[in-house]
Amino acid sequence: MQANWYHQSIQQEAGAKDILATLMLFLSTMTMEQAVAATAQKLKVSPDAVRQVQQTQPKTDTTVNEFQGSAHFSKTEFACKCCGQAMMDPAFIQALEKFRTICGNRSIRISSGYRCQKHNKGVGGAEKSQHVEGQAADINVQGLTTKQVYDLANKSGLFGGIGYYQGWVHVDNGPAGRRWSK
Ligand SMILES: [Zn+2]
Ligand SMILES: [Zn+2]
Repeated sequence: MQANWYHQSIQQEAGAKDILATLMLFLSTMTMEQAVAATAQKLKVSPDAVRQVQQTQPKTDTTVNEFQGSAHFSKTEFACKCCGQAMMDPAFIQALEKFRTICGNRSIRISSGYRCQKHNKGVGGAEKSQHVEGQAADINVQGLTTKQVYDLANKSGLFGGIGYYQGWVHVDNGPAGRRWSK
């Protein structure tokens, strides 16, 4: 009975969107498990329903095309260093535009955006797939320290993965709740 009810609820787009929005909000201050539990309780759905939305979210409604530029970003900034392709996920670019606003409209420098398979082999790293899928960027924000950028990215709820590096912050639209520091 209950299983049937929550399956119906997540089939509706609005339901999934509500779950995701609530989850993102909790994730800014909680671990993934805590956020899943809190979201389930608040929206009166099962934790499995929340997990299901979280796991399918990055692949939903994303059409990766050759990036043609957005309000504040150009194709060149995201282009693969070896071949010049920039197959970026529009949802990720949208998140970056929102993040730019959160950063007080400071300009964001992209040191790495799209990486084709071949180029990615050359640079490697655990984060590789998100750059290959056009859902990641390594960034600096003018006038902000790396730590400030990391903290703002974390609070924003805009990104699934956030990595702190010496000199830049990696952000991506992969599965939510991934945080690391190198
Ligand atoms: Zn390339
Ligand atoms: Zn990266």
